[in-house]
Amino acid sequence: MSRIAVIDYDKCNPDKCGHFLCERVCPVNRMGGEAIIIDEENYRPIIQEASCTGCGICVHKCPFNAITIVNLPEQLDEDCVHRYGINGFVLYRLPVVKDGMVVGILGPNGTGKTTAVKILSGQILPNLCGDNDSWDNVIRAFRGNELQNYFEKLKNKKIRPVVKPQYVDLIPKAVKGKVRDLLKRADEIGAFNEVVKDLELEAILDRNIKQLSGGELQMVTIAAALLRNAQFYFFDEPSSYLDIRQRLRIARIIRKLADSGKNVLTVEHDLAILDYMSDIIHVVYGKPGAYGIFSKPKSTRNGINEFLRGYLKDENVRFRPYEVNFTKKSERKSQKGEILVQYPRLVKDYGSFRLDATGGELYVGEVVGIVGPNGIGKTTFVKILAGVEKPSEGEVDWSLTVSYKPQYIKTDYEGTVYELLSKIDASKLMSSFYKSELLNPLGIPELYDKQLDELSGGELQRVAITACLIRDADLYLLDEPSAHLDSEQRLAVSKAIRSLMAKNEKTALIVEHDVMMVDYLSDRLIVFEGEPGKYGKALPPMGMREGMNRFLTSVGITFRRDPDSGRPRANKEGSVKDREQKERGEYYYVG
Ligand code: ADP
Ligand code: ADP
Ligand code: SF4
Ligand code: SF4
Repeated sequence: MSRIAVIDYDKCNPDKCGHFLCERVCPVNRMGGEAIIIDEENYRPIIQEASCTGCGICVHKCPFNAITIVNLPEQLDEDCVHRYGINGFVLYRLPVVKDGMVVGILGPNGTGKTTAVKILSGQILPNLCGDNDSWDNVIRAFRGNELQNYFEKLKNKKIRPVVKPQYVDLIPKAVKGKVRDLLKRADEIGAFNEVVKDLELEAILDRNIKQLSGGELQMVTIAAALLRNAQFYFFDEPSSYLDIRQRLRIARIIRKLADSGKNVLTVEHDLAILDYMSDIIHVVYGKPGAYGIFSKPKSTRNGINEFLRGYLKDENVRFRPYEVNFTKKSERKSQKGEILVQYPRLVKDYGSFRLDATGGELYVGEVVGIVGPNGIGKTTFVKILAGVEKPSEGEVDWSLTVSYKPQYIKTDYEGTVYELLSKIDASKLMSSFYKSELLNPLGIPELYDKQLDELSGGELQRVAITACLIRDADLYLLDEPSAHLDSEQRLAVSKAIRSLMAKNEKTALIVEHDVMMVDYLSDRLIVFEGEPGKYGKALPPMGMREGMNRFLTSVGITFRRDPDSGRPRANKEGSVKDREQKERGEYYYVG
């Protein structure tokens, strides 16, 4: 085995741990050795891996969990691609890049996906975990590997990479002006009209970039990437902010790009979409912030199934202690329980938009998914139930207590995560049930000492979900809990919601676009129909089969079940299964 020691210097605080506690407790140092030395200039500890015995004492003693020590198989050393300095994050292996293929990447945040893409797009020269300073050495290191040829072209500037960045919400800060002008400027292949039509951007061409919603920004950014003339395209989380119809649309367009012979690489956390658009995938595993390893390329189906199982067969690696099962809906208890509330017909008229929600009833202990396109009134409906918005017709007069996580989370709270959560309910933070079902799976204890305003989007989402779920209430309303979360965290959140509702006999309504999450979470569905931006109609809650059929009919896509994992898989348009299911009106195969 070979050992890596990683220190998260953002967490390390030598003044607050009693002055380099790790150095003082290290048995090697105590015996006069130098496993840990102090870098006086930067005022921080350095662990010398060659002298460290891997005892783990410093890992446990550091009050800020700043140290990670791992033993990895020695053979991995030769696959070490890049290390961010001494005691920095280590990346092992890279994804393959193939002409005419969409290569999907699936893995938790912080495991080096972006680093890999920066290397493949030439923004980072990989140091090969040493002091490498030339692309020639990289080419030599990858001799015999499919990437050798790729790096040769990259070095000779024969590859021009185009990257669709992850955080599209930052774009208005960097780019000003109208959508039309932005896309005209980007257009190197004379395909402006075609791309605008494919992505349905006609209506927003004359809008200013800064007026666009998250979903619109996503579409415009994808359009700008498609208009460039390049060989290598990278789409980092293309589905964020989009509804299912838009997600499938961009998935088809990304496929089309690969079919024209380009290399496409994509990181995507919506597994149904990743499944739909990729030819092969890599699963990235490791420890976020410490190291990441790209698996061998796998068939999309196998790779996603292995990911759900938490076990990579070829690599013989278990990275999650439990398997994720998709219970067949017919097996799930569908008997109606005690009624929690009957809500009346609710209307909200904004003038330019009108929501008409049919009344319905909610049962104790159930999770109800809310599905429909963007701009159809889902958030408005949830806000009315939460008491944040007043309906124009109908009255919500219930004595129930409601806990609500909005779609857009405000961060004006001044204080740490722990202070915020303990103010809501400190006893839940101590409860072993909440620790094992919610707090630990969502990685909340690691965030306790952080100030709210320094959290990343994904961290803030997890804290907001936790804040919502630890509050005592009869009804929990969560608007898009998957936003900014990776697939692993989406599974953890889904599992936590189900488990809490079942155990506490509470009810939850979840607005969600990630089909696999909706499938995993929901007992029933509320489907929204209408014309986005003009009017929306909410149907009463209905069973999964009926609800999904209704919803997917409007999207025009059919789903089958994977025989091994039971997860839903989108059928390719026009395939035999797609045609058969459409004929039978069975858009969502339950079986
Ligand atoms: P992902 O895309 O999978 O979220 P990244 O490649 O962005 O992962 O980052 C992996 C880890 O590498 C991060 O957790 C961070 O600790 C480290 N890292 C990223 N960029 C740098 C950098 N410029 N300097 C030092 N460490 C970095
Ligand atoms: P969804 O959650 O389905 O995306 P929303 O409920 O957020 O939909 O919005 C539905 C429509 O109502 C949108 O066209 C939106 O612009 C409009 N809308 C939302 N809030 C307001 C408001 N306060 N005033 C006017 N129009 C609004
Ligand atoms: Fe202190 Fe932890 Fe930093 Fe070591 S790593 S100096 S124990 S805060
Ligand atoms: Fe020292 Fe043990 Fe930490 Fe290595 S793991 S640096 S030997 S305390």
